[in-house]
Amino acid sequence: MNAGPWLPVPPDGYGGIENIVATLVPPLRELGVEVVLASVGSSTLEVDDLVTVFPEGQFRQLQRPYNQVNGVVPAHQHAVVRAVRERAGIDLVHDHVEAAGLATLAALGPDDPPVLHTLHWDLHKHPELYGTFDGGGRVWVNGVSVDQISRAPEALRAHAVGHVHLATPLADGADRRRPPDKGDHVVIMGRITPGKGQDVGVRLAHQHGFDLVLAGPVGPYHSPAALAAVSTSDNPDVAYYRERVEPYVDGWRVRWLGTVRPPARDDLVAGARAVLAPLRWSEPGGTFVVEALAVGTPVVGLSMGCLPELIDHGRTGFLTDSDDELPDLLAAATKLDPSECMREAARRFTPSLMAARYLELYRQVASRC
Ligand code: UDP
Repeated sequence: MNAGPWLPVPPDGYGGIENIVATLVPPLRELGVEVVLASVGSSTLEVDDLVTVFPEGQFRQLQRPYNQVNGVVPAHQHAVVRAVRERAGIDLVHDHVEAAGLATLAALGPDDPPVLHTLHWDLHKHPELYGTFDGGGRVWVNGVSVDQISRAPEALRAHAVGHVHLATPLADGADRRRPPDKGDHVVIMGRITPGKGQDVGVRLAHQHGFDLVLAGPVGPYHSPAALAAVSTSDNPDVAYYRERVEPYVDGWRVRWLGTVRPPARDDLVAGARAVLAPLRWSEPGGTFVVEALAVGTPVVGLSMGCLPELIDHGRTGFLTDSDDELPDLLAAATKLDPSECMREAARRFTPSLMAARYLELYRQVASRC
């Protein structure tokens, strides 16, 4: 299970891919799968063995110029490839490392183990790799939503064995928990970045008078104090926050909390009347969506990416094609039943369901080799 060199598994707060690996591995092991994790030394997830190069996550390095950080992924992948070739008994590699994981594992020989590479990101990236990809009958990919895979370049889509929706441990037993007490605030949960549309959310909050809380990092900065200490930055998300979001953050109508870690994160979302998703990109998998449902909070957003697959309009949230309709839909969300959201999460987004689906794909991939 290759989780890459960026963050430990589980991550401390923010970390979409690392959270999913931490969610997937325990039920896989319960199903009898032995898991060797390739990650950083500070990972605490219980596994059968750990392959590691870096003692700590290298996420902060991403802010440095390319020629200073371009050894990080190769160093990690080098260790992964060696482990795959030298260790006996690896039946399959489940890889989550963007671009480099797919490329290096596909470059191994026909006698090396089969690979399932999960695509967690926007598939318009890396057109040179995805547009000509050839897995040699040994390397296959899966998406995290139907929408995402349907937009993939043809050569990549030809390697797809399907999709697996994301899951959250919060979905376990969600149908047996008491629905949460609701406050009046709305939350946007996620990295502050143009694709997640925080600029739209903050503008609507002021124009239409609703309380909005933003949770998530701005680039590598996890708190308002950490960001305030930086005068100049080349990070595009820092520029986005400063130019298009911060002018609306008045600490009253709109607040930015920085990264909020569980359990405070889950309490914040559970107490919200809705999670808002004014997306500006085709959200591929949307962990924040399944987490919101699991704690009894409907999602109101633009009908983009995976949202129509995860949200049942009128029952577990509302979707629209127009920003202008979002405020009315946020008001209507107070009429939705939180228990309905929790039941949906318990039915569709549990870790054991995700693990069973991946095991099915592992078998499918192994049988194709
Ligand atoms: N997250 C968090 N605290 C924050 C912001 C985000 O714990 O302040 C978590 C969020 O709950 C989710 C993950 O980080 O589990 C982000 O994954 P998602 O698929 O929603 O977005 P991505 O960043 O991968 O596009």
